Amino acid sequence: MTYDKTNIFAKILRGEIPCNKIYEDEHALAFFDITPAAPKHVLVIPKGDYASFNDFAAHAPQSLVQGFFAAIQKTAAICNLEESGYRLITNHGPDAAQTVHHFHVHILGGIAMGHLL
Ligand code: AMP
Repeated sequence: MTYDKTNIFAKILRGEIPCNKIYEDEHALAFFDITPAAPKHVLVIPKGDYASFNDFAAHAPQSLVQGFFAAIQKTAAICNLEESGYRLITNHGPDAAQTVHHFHVHILGGIAMGHLL
């Protein structure tokens, strides 16, 4: 999958459109999902041109992989989800119904979600 720099999360990273920011560092940006699927629904995106998890895992440098996962944990802590728990989801490709083609991880919490699907 080729990375398209006009995707909406690339525009958010460039500051061309706003987001409801929760956390940002050199590796990642975290903001509230515009259509929440849980009481707390946050997206964490890496600062780099990666179309999906598959692209990120195959091509991102280890420093960015490490920094990105650390940013997810920090974001969950900021959202006060460490004790109650949270679910991470990432969608890659058509069968997973990925709609935005900049790698992102959903953090879902604030409610008991039961088992997987
Ligand atoms: P996915 O289906 O995994 O690609 O998820 C894309 C997510 O991006 C969906 O949950 C959307 O609600 C969310 N989304 C799309 N546009 C925006 C936006 N401008 N700000 C925040 N979240 C967005």
